[in-house]
Amino acid sequence: MPESVSTCNKEVPEMMPSWYLKNPIGEYVGIYLAEVSEKVNIGENVSGGAITAFLCYLIDENFVDGVIAARKTKGLEGEVIVAKSKEEIIKTAGSKWQVLPFTSKLKETIENEDLKKIAIVGLPCQIHFLRQMKTFPLLEMDFSHRIDFLISLFCYGTFAQESILNYIKEKYEVEISSIKEVKITPKALKFIGEKTVEIPFEEITGYLQIGCLLCPDYTGTSSDISAGIIRDKTIIISRNKRADEMIKDAASMKYIKISEAGKEIIKRIEEESIRKINRASKHIADLL
Ligand code: SF4
Repeated sequence: MPESVSTCNKEVPEMMPSWYLKNPIGEYVGIYLAEVSEKVNIGENVSGGAITAFLCYLIDENFVDGVIAARKTKGLEGEVIVAKSKEEIIKTAGSKWQVLPFTSKLKETIENEDLKKIAIVGLPCQIHFLRQMKTFPLLEMDFSHRIDFLISLFCYGTFAQESILNYIKEKYEVEISSIKEVKITPKALKFIGEKTVEIPFEEITGYLQIGCLLCPDYTGTSSDISAGIIRDKTIIISRNKRADEMIKDAASMKYIKISEAGKEIIKRIEEESIRKINRASKHIADLL
């Protein structure tokens, strides 16, 4: 029988390698509170504006010639875009709540756009896949040498879209076609339309994609930089020296403002990470 762990709330069988719990955030150089600074005008109430501003820095300073990220179109829909200018990057600002299948289109997009050095913003699972591809390139046609910078967003999980929409329609009497925006708050999903409902994550865990229930990575440990929102603050984690220097340079050039995240915030990120590891442990144990 697997051992039990009690690091977070309740006992669960330990199905994950022990280093996950010893190092729940992964390796890092620095953890910062970050906000957008005067050089970038993103508009008000945009979550994660600091990472958008950092991407503007990467483009302006020619570290990359394109950024691949997701952009909201309308309501619940989104698309994957290649942003090659500051203006295009600013259009991608804001939270995303679904996994967009950009990895399948990546090679085609990079070649069509003739990009030589790109930054990719994705979810931990997508970034992990890309890091694997970069570390162990297999094919001559591999495009991983063109990926220069991997940025992961913190991820609680993504939802089976049709089922969750049926749920909120029936339980909260929300007209699906009226939903204009879905926001992710640290504890809930907020559907905004004719009617606004905020549903705590605990209530809708059952609507998470199965793969997400088995996923132990909250912050995106394979990235160069991870970013997410904790207590309404944007957190940026640098995972290597180069990424750390770039974050500091972006701050000195007034794209972003940064300050060291204190122990409280780091503890909170660890708790969220451990909660996700334990959730994965529990669901793996249930499956076996
Ligand atoms: S929970 Fe894991 S598998 Fe699911 S979208 Fe997030 S990173 Fe990917």
